[in-house]
Amino acid sequence: MSSSNGFSGSLFVVAAPSGAGKSTLVNALLAKEPTIKLSISTTTRAPRPGETHGQQYYFTSAEDFVARAKAGEFLEWAEVHGNYYGTSRLMVEEQMKTGTDVLLEIDWQGARQVKKLFPQAAGIFILPPSIDALEERLKKRATDEPHVITKRLLAAGGEIAHAPEFEYAIINEEFDVALSELTAIVRAARCRFAQQAARNTSLFAQLGIHAE
Ligand code: 5GP
Repeated sequence: MSSSNGFSGSLFVVAAPSGAGKSTLVNALLAKEPTIKLSISTTTRAPRPGETHGQQYYFTSAEDFVARAKAGEFLEWAEVHGNYYGTSRLMVEEQMKTGTDVLLEIDWQGARQVKKLFPQAAGIFILPPSIDALEERLKKRATDEPHVITKRLLAAGGEIAHAPEFEYAIINEEFDVALSELTAIVRAARCRFAQQAARNTSLFAQLGIHAE
């Protein structure tokens, strides 16, 4: 149990540069594996058209965010593209304690903080199949102003530079292949000895298996 920190749920951290198709892949994974809880972050970024408070993000002011960060409400937080983003500590810990798997869609700075707190978290990095494909996807998205797109393209290089800090890399060329790889990682993590022992305490006791 020590290697799962007493948490019987698994923690998945998914990062990618903007335009790698991360959200589409994650949403498809959640449709296939509905028991995984997606953590909804708090951000100071303005909502994009179609975004609703409490669905994609909890939107707030910089003043409120900083106060909450100081109060320790966030498991991790970071400044990304000039806005603050943070993960709710309470939500993640409550879910994982009750055996629910949690998935965080965060940047490399947040992933690094989470890895320190939960070394057993599975870090997954989604890569685009080429730099041209990345640029194309960012332009097609067009939900942001052109100068924001340029900023994100530059930032993409910075995000990709941190890909080696993750355990898993998925190249999102063929969506179905990428989705099956992501699903395989999730299923394998659930079979880790520590996770199985934490979830099946009575079976393990019955079989006389004692965690190290
Ligand atoms: P977007 O504004 O496009 O939704 O997200 C911008 C970036 O912020 C993405 O790389 C996303 O993964 C990251 N992000 C979203 N929520 C969080 C969070 O709670 N913490 C951190 N560190 N990054 C986040």
